[in-house]
Parts: sequence; C-alpha cells; structure tokens
Amino acid sequence: MYRTHTCGELRQNNAGETVRLAGWVQRTRDLGGMTFLDLRDRYGITQLTFSMDEQPELCKKARKLGREYVIQIEGKVRERSSKNRQIPTGEIEIEVSSITILNASQTPPFTIEEESDGGDELRMKYRYLDLRRPPLRENMILRHKAALATRNYLASLEFMEIETPFLIKSTPEGARDFVVPSRLHSGEFYALPQSPQTFKQLLMVSGYDKYFQIVRCFRDEDLRADRQPEFTQIDCEMSFVTREDVIQTFEGLAKHLVKEIKGIEIGSIPQISYDDAMRYYGCDKPDIRFDMQFVTLQSRKENIQHIQPNHGFKVFEEAEAVIGICVKGAAEYTRKQLDELTDFVKRPQIGANGLIYVRYAADDTFKSSVDKFFNADTLKNWATHFSAQPGDLLLIMAGELDKTRKQLSELRLEMGTRLGLRKKDEFKFLWVLDFPMFEFNEEDNRWYAMHHPFTSPKEQDMAALSSHPESVKANAYDLVLNGSEIAGGSIRIHRREIQEIVFDILGFSRDDAKEKFGFLMNAFEYGAPPHGGIAFGFDRFCALLGGYDSIRDFIAFPKNNAGRDTMIDSPSEIDSNQWDELHIKQNKSNS
Ligand code: ASP
Repeated sequence: MYRTHTCGELRQNNAGETVRLAGWVQRTRDLGGMTFLDLRDRYGITQLTFSMDEQPELCKKARKLGREYVIQIEGKVRERSSKNRQIPTGEIEIEVSSITILNASQTPPFTIEEESDGGDELRMKYRYLDLRRPPLRENMILRHKAALATRNYLASLEFMEIETPFLIKSTPEGARDFVVPSRLHSGEFYALPQSPQTFKQLLMVSGYDKYFQIVRCFRDEDLRADRQPEFTQIDCEMSFVTREDVIQTFEGLAKHLVKEIKGIEIGSIPQISYDDAMRYYGCDKPDIRFDMQFVTLQSRKENIQHIQPNHGFKVFEEAEAVIGICVKGAAEYTRKQLDELTDFVKRPQIGANGLIYVRYAADDTFKSSVDKFFNADTLKNWATHFSAQPGDLLLIMAGELDKTRKQLSELRLEMGTRLGLRKKDEFKFLWVLDFPMFEFNEEDNRWYAMHHPFTSPKEQDMAALSSHPESVKANAYDLVLNGSEIAGGSIRIHRREIQEIVFDILGFSRDDAKEKFGFLMNAFEYGAPPHGGIAFGFDRFCALLGGYDSIRDFIAFPKNNAGRDTMIDSPSEIDSNQWDELHIKQNKSNS
C-alpha cells in the first residue's frame, strides 16, 4: 500500500497512529535541531518533522529533498505544540521514521504555493505544475462539483444526456467554424460544432423530449480577452414547452447550482424585456448588483423632452438623446475625479465626446459643468427626474441614442466598480426577454439572426415576419448573472414554411438553405414537436461562482489569449505526408 491516508486527512484523533503518506515536497524549513517538511497532495498539506538529535541520518536525508520531489513516508501522528488554525491538518504533525524517494524533481520554474511568483506565460507553459497550486485545484473541484450537480439535477427531472457528434457540417451561430479536412473524401471537410443546436432539435423530432449534454463547442472567433476557441456548454432542449416552462426549469438549475456550490439560496429571478434593458441599463446584460438606472432627459426618437428649450447649450440642442445616471452620495467627487471619469468615457474604446456633471451638494446647492447654460432651478428640476437627494452626483451624456446608451452603460459599470458595488460574493440573476429577431448589418447590407436562425418569432409577430422584420421580436431569452450572459436560448421554429421564410430574410437562397439545412427542414416534415431549449456557458458560470473574472482559471488546459496552447505547442505544423494524405496543397510561403 502506497499510503494509508491522504495529506488532507489526519486530525488530532489520529494521534498515536502509525501512518504512511505519499505526496510532493512543498518546502522544507530547517530550524536548528528540527526540520519541518510540508508534504502536499490533492487533498491538502501535512507537516512532517525530523529531529537532528534523535534521527540524524533521516534528518539529513530530509534536508536534501528538493521542492516537488515525490516521496513516501512512514511515521507516527502526534499533536502539534503550536497549532496552525489555517489548515484542517494544522493540529497534527508526523514524526517520520522512514522516507522513500519515489521520484526526484527538477527545481520548478515557479513556486507552487497559494501565491506563485511565476508570470502568466510561464505558468501556462507548465500548466501541469500550476494545477498543483491550491487555488487552481479548488477551481477544478468546483467545476467537477458543478458538473455533477448539473447531471444529478437534470437526471432527476428525467433529462437524458445524449452525445452528439463533433465531426459535423457547419452550423451557423454567428461565428466561424473550425474545419477538419477529410482524408477519405478528397477536397471535403468536416466542421467542428459551434454548438449541438441542430442535433438537439433532431433529438426532439426523435422523441427524446428532455435532452441535455455537458459538451464542448468550438468557435473560430477573433481573439478577445477571455475567449476560448473551445469551451463547454450545458446544452439542453425540451419538447412540448412554452418559454415559461423552459425559464422555470433552468431557473431551477441555476438556483440549484448556486445552492450546491455556494450554499446560497436565490429567490425568484427577475425578468426584463430587451427594450427596457437597453432603456435603463444601455446593454442587454445588465449588472443588477447595483441600481443606478438610466434617466432619459431627452430622446427625440421616443418623444421625451425634459429639458426646457432655448438654453443655448449646443451639445444638447444637437443631441438625439440626453441620458444620465445618479450616483448616490458622490457629490463630493473632486474635480480631479470628475476629470478622470471624463477621460474614461473619451477613451477610444468608449468614444464619447464628453461628460456633464451636476453636483447636488448636501447644502441643497448645485454646481455643474453647464452652469453657464442652466440655472439652479433647472438643475433642481433635473435632479427631481433622477430622484436625486442632496449629496448625489448626476453624470449625463448626450449624442445619438444607441451610442450614448452604450457609452453610459460603460460609465455605469465603472461607477459600480469604483464604489465597490459589484461584489464577487453576491449573485444577481436576471432574465432578459423579447429580443429583436433580426439585426441589420450596414456593412453587409443584410439581416442577421440576433440569436440564431432556428429561433421562433413571437406568435403575435408572425404576420409581420416578411413585411417588417425589424419589428419582429424573438421568442428568445438570456440568463444574465452579475452582468455576464451565462445562458441563452429560445423556443424554436418547428414548421418548415416558417423556417424557409426566416432563411429568406437572412438572405439564403432556397438552394443554399436546402444544401445547408435540408436535413433539418426535412425532419420538420416528419412530425416535429414544438420545442425549445437553452445552453449555459459552463466555464463562465463556474468562474462567476468561484468569484473569478477569467474562464481560463476554470479550464484545466486552456489556450492563451492568442489561441495557443504553449505547453503542447499547438497549433503546429504537420508533416508533408499528412498534407498529401489530406489532399491539401502546402502553401510554401506560409509553411
Ligand atoms: N445553441 C445556442 C447557443 O449556443 C443555445 C440555444 O439556443 O440553446 O448559443
């Protein structure tokens, strides 16, 4: 037997027992006559002790052990005289009687402890060492628990986990496909799934009315911070359901996971329409851990005008919209802080022209950056619209409606962060409903599906589908957690004629649609039940539950921000005979 216990297991009541442990040397400390060694495995750390007086040979051997050596020891458990309350094994130590070196180790390129001294790149290259560190280990455990809880929960509701293929044909979900050349079929390619969307719909046609799968998806998207070319979804589909059925079922899953992982009970999850999300938060995934909703002072499109005319302030006169937020208790913001905020919104990533502030001082006076144009009465009137109190600060932006909303949304989040209102241990979910069905892309001069082409329009908008696609709402829903979209889905189209109209609007010719999705449209003719579903971004959900910003920390072997795995050095070149077998001409200039 290699070990009788793990390194995280022994407690005071084991004192006196003779045990055998195996693990990695985290570090050794020589204190004159005594040597202490921290032995680590996946379960924890146990302190080993060696006495120079009593066992000089053994003590010398221990002192020679390098970091990350793999050893096996035997010894007696005893109560520690100075206990470490920080770790579960901190009450005991092992008085070692024998050491066996199972394997030596080179000095690791960074310290493998709670905090590491290794930079990002180095730790990615030696990911297998980084994974030994407690924070990453905790993340892997969280992920494992979340996957297990998901399976148990969904299975208890009679969902079946069914695997769908990875070598498929392109499914458009708005991203580019990764493709795999076929050796057996010269000039032909498989595509890796962006999601199992069409397969899960086919499973509904097959009668498996509650399907799920924890599944890898692949999207060849442009690089953005914290995007992974392969990521995991909890993918689900159900038959004979309305939007409310799907929402209820997966609200249940979300709550269950927060309860299992964090021990927190979440109440019922609020819902907001896409239009209201844009109106009050300027984005379709509002962070509602804090309030700070938008107040519209002027919006020509919406016929809102709370600013008296003839004020002479050109910026407002020319603006389609004037919108602001009220920052509670921030009237004391200094000129320097306000300048910082102005610089923040003027950054090219945000692109605003400027920022207007109104300080509503505690003594009921006003001071603003537009005092030249507006008197105190007018400012007070604005303050009323914002439900502002003395001591509050109004931040106002003006310009084209959609752009201004986007810019103000960034400012709102920045203020939330600055005021410490975006707490990592608070979990605020929100359903966003009634998305527009289509988005028009000016560059390509065509409509795109906002969710995906298989999403059903809302019943009441069906008649306007061909004539006014811009006005049609989709029967789609997103689940937002702390300002991140963690799940999205829709009720699907299950009738061929509707699917054909949607493909028409999206600019697919009938032949094109048939070539790409003939299989799905044919299936719709063999008794396709009404159905709908959802998919959770599993990596992101885990990261948020763990209180992290980055999904990379919850993936055992992720790619770096350039889409590379620097540990195995991928992507990499292939042999010339592989090129030949795959019938692809090697582009010498690129190789
Ligand atoms: N397949 C969709 C996605 O990956 C989710 C869904 O509609 O169920 O976003």
